[in-house]
Formats: sequence, structure tokens, C-alpha cells
Amino acid sequence: MPELPEVETIVRDLRSQIMGRVITGLVLRERALTYLLQTNSEKFYQGMMNQTIITILRKGKYIIMPLSNNNVLVLHLGMTGKLWVYDSPEVDFVDQWSGNDYVDKHTHVVIELIDPSGEDDDLELHFNDVRLFGNIWLVEDVQDLNHIDVPGLKGLGSDALGMSLKEFTKIMNSRRSIKAILLDQTKIAGVGNIYADEACFCAQIHPATRGVSLTEEQLDKLWFAVKTVLKQGIKHRGSSTSDYTTTDGSEGSYQHYHRVYQKTGHKCVECSAAIERIKLVGRSTHFCPSCQREGK
Ligand SMILES: [Zn+2]
Repeated sequence: MPELPEVETIVRDLRSQIMGRVITGLVLRERALTYLLQTNSEKFYQGMMNQTIITILRKGKYIIMPLSNNNVLVLHLGMTGKLWVYDSPEVDFVDQWSGNDYVDKHTHVVIELIDPSGEDDDLELHFNDVRLFGNIWLVEDVQDLNHIDVPGLKGLGSDALGMSLKEFTKIMNSRRSIKAILLDQTKIAGVGNIYADEACFCAQIHPATRGVSLTEEQLDKLWFAVKTVLKQGIKHRGSSTSDYTTTDGSEGSYQHYHRVYQKTGHKCVECSAAIERIKLVGRSTHFCPSCQREGK
């Protein structure tokens, strides 16, 4: 699942590629209507066409695109969603609704984007999603981008990258495990399984440690570790451990720098002990039993 660094990489790419473009064509294939689209398709079409994409923002793992008519396009990539930008037209937009057989079978939405100055070629934005857990909303007449009426986005915690130590200390004041707290998007937005495990290793704290039992020093270390691994992830354009690609279809490279995630049985880079895997809050959790002792 794309986490904060992967979504941030996509958002930064999109900003340079499609910001200021005008939506002039839209194909919604059948499975987009059944699974992905959370807005009435006619409203979606009418509310999108001929509008300019003002900017592209990220909040947690959500991608937010305000349009020139105050509507806002909101995307969540779910497990396997990808956004690809094509600079050579793939789709015939004349037959708007039927879609075209020759685009990838897992591409469910195609948006045609023209350069209003006419200087650059038309682009296409493809939403590809193998497992169909992604979501797409068009929210009408948004006055405040901090209050967009989309489930999940409304109750989202502060973004992990911008969170202060004071706020981090507050959300960690819980009897739940630090892994559970880090994954809770209502407490801290953007961290998923990869970066939670890497952050706990970086801070040398066992992921099952209860938030409330962290010492002041551990809180400081963990807060810093979360930001550090997220920033490193962005620097390496995300982690491609299964499906994630950037908008040109290329992979991120942070998976080559993972120290515990999916490293079960490998030697710890710090102490050579074998990395172990346990289940915590239903998720595979990777850690070094020697560097990250429980109750340490
Ligand atoms: Zn170790």
C-alpha cells in the first residue's frame, strides 16, 4: 500500500506534470463505476469537464486536486492504485463512456488534460488499480480545503511529517502498542506498515511497547525516527515492495534501504541478530530481537 513517501512522490511529480492543465476528456470504465467512484458519475463528469487543475496536494495518503470551479477531486490509492501520466494519447475520447479496449485492463479511469496555452502536447492521467481498493471522490463547492467532506479525510490526524514533538507525545499517551498508534490514521496521518517498522527499528524500540510506557528519551527518538524514515523514503522516491510505481511507471528505490521490513531471517545491520516477524494489530511486524528488546 502506498504510504506517505510514495504518495508524496506521486503528488510532487503530478504538480510538475499536470498542474494548470484543463480537463477535456474523461473515460470511466465499468469497474470504476462499480468499485472506485464514490460520486454520482453524471455529477462527476459535469463537475470535472473543462476545469483547470489549480494544484495537487497531499493529506496523509490522500491526493487532493482543487479545480477552478471550487470542486475538489480526491483520490486514495488503496492497496494497489497507481497514477500514470502519458504524454502520447492512448484513448479515443469521442466515445466518452465506453472506454477503449486497448488501454491496460486494470486502468479504470482516464482523464485527458490539455495545456491551455497550446504549447505542450495533450496528456492523459490513468488511474490503474488491480485490486480495486482505491477511491475517487469529486466534492462540490469546497470553501475550505481543510474541511473536505470525504470519509476518512475528515477525521484524519495531523500529517506525520509536520507533527510536533508535543503532539506526538500526546497521541502516544495510550495503552496501545506504538505500532498500533503509528498505523492509526486518525492519530497520525501517512504512516503505514513499512515506515512504522523502519521507524521503530531506527529508534531501537520494540514495536509492541505500549505508547504510555515510553520514556521521554524514547518519545523523542521515535518522533525523530518517524520523520527521518519518511524523509529518506521521499528522497528515494518511495518503496516499491509490491505494486507501487511513480507516475512514469518507474519504481522507487527505498526498498533497497529497508533494514527490517520484509527482512525476516536476515542479519540485523547493527548487531547481526536475525530479524524476526510477529503479528501486531493484524499486520506483519518486523524487528531486531536484540536491538529492540521488549521493555527496554
Ligand atoms: Zn540488531
